Amino acid sequence: MTLTLKHIVPVLNAQWKGEFGDIEIDHISIDSRSLQNGPGTLFFALSGPNNDAHNYIGELLDSGVFNFVVTHIPDEVKGQANFIIVPDVLLALQQFAAWYRDKFHFPVIGITGSNGKTIIKEWLNFLLGPDYNIIRSPKSYNSQVGVPLSVIGINEMHNLGIFEAGISTVAEMERLEPIIRPTIGILTNIGTAHDEGFANIADKIKEKLRLFKRSEVLIYQKNKTIEAFIQSGTKRFSWSFKEEEAEVLLARRTEGEQTIITIKKGAPEFEITIPFRDEASIENAAHCLMVLLFFEYDPNEIKGRMSLLYPVEMRLVVKNGINNSTLIDDSYSSDFQSLKIALDFLENQKQHKKKTLILSDIFQSGLGNEELYSRVSQLVVSNKINRVIGIGPIISAFKNKFVNCSTYETTSEFLAAFPALHFRDETILIKGARQFRFEKIVALLEEKTHETVLEINLNAVSHNLNFFKSKLRPETKMMVMVKAFGYGNGGLEIARLLEHHKVDYLGVAFADEGISLKASGISLPIMVMNPESTSFPSIIQYGLEPEIYSLKGLEAFLKVVSAEKKSAYRIHIKFDTGMHRLGFEEKQLDELIAILRNNPLVTVQSVLSHMATSDDLNHHAFALQQIALFEKMVTLFCTELGIDPILHMLNTSGISNYPEAQFDMVRLGIGLYGISNDASEQKYLENVSTLKSIISQLRTIPAGDSVGYGRRFMAQHDTKIATIPIGYADGISRHWGNGVGYITINGKRAPITGSICMDMLMADVSGISCKEGDPVVIFGLDPTVNEMSKSLKTIPYEILTSISQRVKRVFYRE
Ligand SMILES: *Cc1c(COP(=O)(O)O)cnc(C)c1O
Repeated sequence: MTLTLKHIVPVLNAQWKGEFGDIEIDHISIDSRSLQNGPGTLFFALSGPNNDAHNYIGELLDSGVFNFVVTHIPDEVKGQANFIIVPDVLLALQQFAAWYRDKFHFPVIGITGSNGKTIIKEWLNFLLGPDYNIIRSPKSYNSQVGVPLSVIGINEMHNLGIFEAGISTVAEMERLEPIIRPTIGILTNIGTAHDEGFANIADKIKEKLRLFKRSEVLIYQKNKTIEAFIQSGTKRFSWSFKEEEAEVLLARRTEGEQTIITIKKGAPEFEITIPFRDEASIENAAHCLMVLLFFEYDPNEIKGRMSLLYPVEMRLVVKNGINNSTLIDDSYSSDFQSLKIALDFLENQKQHKKKTLILSDIFQSGLGNEELYSRVSQLVVSNKINRVIGIGPIISAFKNKFVNCSTYETTSEFLAAFPALHFRDETILIKGARQFRFEKIVALLEEKTHETVLEINLNAVSHNLNFFKSKLRPETKMMVMVKAFGYGNGGLEIARLLEHHKVDYLGVAFADEGISLKASGISLPIMVMNPESTSFPSIIQYGLEPEIYSLKGLEAFLKVVSAEKKSAYRIHIKFDTGMHRLGFEEKQLDELIAILRNNPLVTVQSVLSHMATSDDLNHHAFALQQIALFEKMVTLFCTELGIDPILHMLNTSGISNYPEAQFDMVRLGIGLYGISNDASEQKYLENVSTLKSIISQLRTIPAGDSVGYGRRFMAQHDTKIATIPIGYADGISRHWGNGVGYITINGKRAPITGSICMDMLMADVSGISCKEGDPVVIFGLDPTVNEMSKSLKTIPYEILTSISQRVKRVFYRE
């Protein structure tokens, strides 16, 4: 559909300012960093508590974008573009999407509920894919912003939509309903997620059901509480394993790793087999089954397709590849929308200059192949991909649309050619439809390590950053501490993400940490808290900024600056206001001021101090005394020198407990990694790090037998024991063994039996359904690092930073 500004402006009830004429819009964007922005882009300048895209209009003009939806025109860009002025940009995006949605008349399945939305969406796409051209939400794009962006992907060739909607508080569904306008509704279930956003369960149910107010039919698991709120005009199509009144009554039994579901009532009686046995998968499959029954599929067809359901990987995973390459593994889906998202992620995470795309045939784009591969080629060019490897008969036929492209008809052909392809020092995006089995490619390219990994959720890092930003005044700057490998989570990857989020400063403990970040291309300014004088020359060479805390250190640094023939070099002055660790004391101020007065060699970029008790309100008075002393010292120092440096004092718990002492900047640390020492605040943070391993071996021992060194566990009865390949050399304290701690397997807690060994530990898994190779969680959601640290009488910082560097870090994004 051709859309021009002339169409769009009246829809938004907006005012158009700018003389650049009407223009055809072929791309809607909200991300100023996307390389996909160009002349046909209409950019919606969203603003939140933490970030205002109006600030990036200048940059976007430079990259050729000149159509903007804004609330106001910033002074510096007046007269330079087409501006569509609206009172609320998010609302405008939603209105636009709703208007766009109205142009299409085909069945749309809308999914909401607390769990399973994305899996059901992906499974339905797989089950219905052979018969429809489906448009669906990419990944889990189900938010106030994600839903409009998903719907805007519809085109004339689509004839079925599947969209998910996620809400966290009241009044949100009202805005999503007109955008999705589902004709068929699925309510997955009502769990406890986002409970804080609703007064009670009834409010939550009512809000979710608003999505279906114009739907013909609602599919749900039979439930009286829910039914009390369903509108009378909506046809109910419920299922149940026990409620006889459900429209479709099901029965089930487990056979090995499979579940057999029988349809007992409401449709012809028949059986299907699904390759899962866990509760969540069975529920998700039941919802999908109901859709197929509603569409009146033939039982044999249903049976065949449902037996092929597969685990859905919902994340984009970053992995270490062979020969110093980096992999972005998206080897389970291939559609045009998700390709765009994956390419943005590639740009954001690229670790090397060279970017490679391995791409299979793309299905269900709703476009003809000629047009589709032209568009893919444009994406490849705008994203500056250095080489493309196409796999599949269709993409092979369009090879001439790409530069530096090699193609293979099948994955096996590619695998045969692999030894001669020499992947090295590059970031490789692997994106393929499921039937191409690209996991075989990932297996070849992935660096082999043992099974224990620390998984780091980059979305959660972003969430936590935004949470703390929202507690600050808008003008307060943010330094983020990435010392000790980003608190054990991987310094470089975290730093990259922070650069993407445009934080103001990074802080590290030692020069070599800063050097390695700079050498890897991080351009944010970096403060080094504990620079040794031997490292001063390399600090200057890499443009790092030292914290200066003593007269001796200052004199030594000035000598090096002078020898290196630098001037006005940025330094940070640390005051000791009571922590008594590092810093100038009040009585040294005169001498410090005398040295710095009119000194051309250095510039005082910031002045800081550190609180000893920001986390403990029992020491409230002491904290206030530190703050007061800082103010006093700073006033004298700055007045005497006539300077106005950045002032900062607060760490994570300081941000929460002493917001009045934000000064000009704060130094966020542990909070970024999802940990707070305040239980009410902890609720709002997302878990970042999950330490995982697998079961190496299972055995059952009889009563009276023992486990491990020193026979410190004695079985009282027959006991099933699992051995896990992680031990104290990986950073798990021995105090966590001998029944004190536990691990989680398939959602169940298994106490650690006997002493933790250097590289292994054993756990009692009696009564837990599990097998060798099953994943286990050492910490993450259960147990949490907080919980472990309490039991071990230490602090979360120590647990996180103790995880040995031999444990592989895996970064992912949902
Ligand atoms: C580590 C550190 C921080 C961050 O502390 P958190 O408690 O992790 O937020 C801030 N400032 C200084 C000087 C630090 O050493």
